[in-house]
Amino acid sequence: MSVIVYTESENGKFKKNAFEVASYASEVARQMGTTATAVSINCMENALLGTYGISKVLNVQNEKMKPFNAKAAAEVVSKALEAEGASVVVISSSSDAKYMAPLLSARLKAGYVPNIVAAPESTTPFKIKRTAFSNKGFAHTEIKTDIKILGVSNNAFGTVETPTDASIEDFSISLDAEFKTKSTDIDKVVGKATIADADIVVSAGRGLKGPENWGMIEDLADVLGAATACSKPVSDLGWRPHGEHVGQTGKPVASNLYIAIGISGAIQHLAGVSSSKTKVVINNDPEAPFFKAADYGIVGDAFEVVPELIEKLKEF
Ligand code: FAD
Repeated sequence: MSVIVYTESENGKFKKNAFEVASYASEVARQMGTTATAVSINCMENALLGTYGISKVLNVQNEKMKPFNAKAAAEVVSKALEAEGASVVVISSSSDAKYMAPLLSARLKAGYVPNIVAAPESTTPFKIKRTAFSNKGFAHTEIKTDIKILGVSNNAFGTVETPTDASIEDFSISLDAEFKTKSTDIDKVVGKATIADADIVVSAGRGLKGPENWGMIEDLADVLGAATACSKPVSDLGWRPHGEHVGQTGKPVASNLYIAIGISGAIQHLAGVSSSKTKVVINNDPEAPFFKAADYGIVGDAFEVVPELIEKLKEF
């Protein structure tokens, strides 16, 4: 009864979350007294997974799975689960993984729990801790189905090195089914970190007054190698693309550092960013609710503080 982990990659290289889910799967396998097997699709770096305790990598090279196709990925993972006689599947909290999870869950008749923040509390019965109430609390959840799907929150478990000799085996399955949808291409802003993968996210709100003032936000993000994000009204107003909207109804952020500039800290915004490890707020209103949720705060005008911060950071 081994543990399967679905590791994500892009352009032949693992995404950061691949090493986190691999580390998590190794820990689950350790607790269950078994081994962890990774499913790796169109990646050229498979040997790296041994560093994180993976003992076998099922290497899938298939043009039909470029770019990501959730139905095809669910098919490959369920076939891998069958082949390995596994009972647990570990996935990340990326949008691709969340897209695949219900397909996998229906197919395997498996209980799926997303937003997991710690190693299992026990494996018999199978109990885990996840966030609840939009990150305002935790739930301790028991999964009762024979097959279990665990969705691990980004940055919650981190990476743990437990070097293992990983065997790499080619794993091919025929994907004959006609997929009802297929992305033909993905347009990405070249060179920019994505909100899901970034260590640092620089986010701005309505306090910036208008889209013409985002130059300094992008400059700050460039200096820090950060992704840019925004509050909901900002994307609703069309100042920034909807893909940057974070919060309860937008993308979740679980970065190491989240810098909120001119954002009030409404409950719906905080719900999506509270998993970030360190939160810094820049706001000219000392009563802004975000200060209560932040680790560090600067009370000041963003139009003065941000340019000064950029200058100081450039000195490093
Ligand atoms: P504002 O509330 O207008 O705050 C602007 C802040 O900028 C103020 O605190 C002000 O003091 C500060 N400021 C002004 N000028 C300056 C300056 N020169 N320098 C520094 N600071 C300055 N919101 C989200 O963000 N994400 C969500 O997912 C989300 N989902 C929602 C879901 C529902 C069902 C509902 C009802 C609302 C949702 N909202 C969401 C909206 C949320 O309630 C807030 O309205 C929104 O977050 C406020 O955005 P803001 O902080 O950018 O703007």
